[in-house]
Amino acid sequence: MCIRPVFFDLDGKVATRRQILAHLGRMSAVGVTGLGLSLVPMVRTCAGEVVDFIGGPPVADIAPRQLSKHVWMIYAQDAFPTAENHGMMANILFVVTGKGVVVVDTGASLQIGQMALRMIKKITPQPVVAVFNSHFHGDHWLGNHAFGEALGPQLPIYSLDYTTAQINGHEGDLWRSLMERWTNQSTMGTQVTPPNKSTSHGQEFRFGDVTLKMHFYGQAHTKGDLSVEIVEDKVFHVGDLAMENRIANIDDGSYPGTFNYFDKLQQSGGSDALWVPCHGNPRKDLLATYGTFLKGIWEPSVQAFKNDMPIEKAKALVLQDPRVASRAKSMLGFDQNIGKYTSLAYLEAERETF
Ligand SMILES: [Zn+2]
Repeated sequence: MCIRPVFFDLDGKVATRRQILAHLGRMSAVGVTGLGLSLVPMVRTCAGEVVDFIGGPPVADIAPRQLSKHVWMIYAQDAFPTAENHGMMANILFVVTGKGVVVVDTGASLQIGQMALRMIKKITPQPVVAVFNSHFHGDHWLGNHAFGEALGPQLPIYSLDYTTAQINGHEGDLWRSLMERWTNQSTMGTQVTPPNKSTSHGQEFRFGDVTLKMHFYGQAHTKGDLSVEIVEDKVFHVGDLAMENRIANIDDGSYPGTFNYFDKLQQSGGSDALWVPCHGNPRKDLLATYGTFLKGIWEPSVQAFKNDMPIEKAKALVLQDPRVASRAKSMLGFDQNIGKYTSLAYLEAERETF
């Protein structure tokens, strides 16, 4: 990769043939001590070429959308990663406060995080002062790399301890490599940058005129889903606890745990809160609509188990349930996942019973 000798001048521009010859002339006049005073050979070129080779392309700008007085969202049109979308599949939220910008979830790659940083600069000259990660799935934190790189290791990146442990364990690198595979290497160059600060349920952060309150009510989408409330704006970031029109991964989660979490959030937020998912649009009825859909999977599965029906019968009951059937045609990922997630509901019903 690094066999072509190209020279740079000290401004980083590629040197002309005339500059190189002049430099070589000076070298012969002053000896090797003159090396590097006016031209820096090769080393930066090699590093640059390696970055070009292993780094994926930049992600196209997405203009942020203002959701409330302080809260903005960079919206992901797609719900799943592809080569075409470069992994841009999860919304990125940022809060413009009197004490800097706070980002909640950073996207699925270095390149997506860099795009988010560009977009934040279009809205405010203030620096990013803190990042929060909702949970350990890679589309929510792989973009940390861009923020750590731009703002330094002292930038606080908060998450629940469970999430940080998963990212520091095998899940971190697993998600990094999966995202590369799913995007045909578009996310290459992304490094695992785990959270470096712990937070927990009930903690409040004051950033000038804005308060951020942490919520956590046990296993739901994963065993560690942080919901961040932007108190003054009545906005809740709900990570992947609920999705607008995509069926959520529940491999690491719990159906009853999700219903319990929704009840607790709804008690905190009341009827007027805006719930912001990472997949799909924010809605005031998001917990109600997604909760109804999930109950259409859970309740027939429990019924099938209690009546000693086989798992296939549970699937048939779920598909017939109007709460599921009404959304089957339009919900993204439905056909690929409904069988698996019904099985998970059936198995959880079995565990709950014993
Ligand atoms: Zn997730």
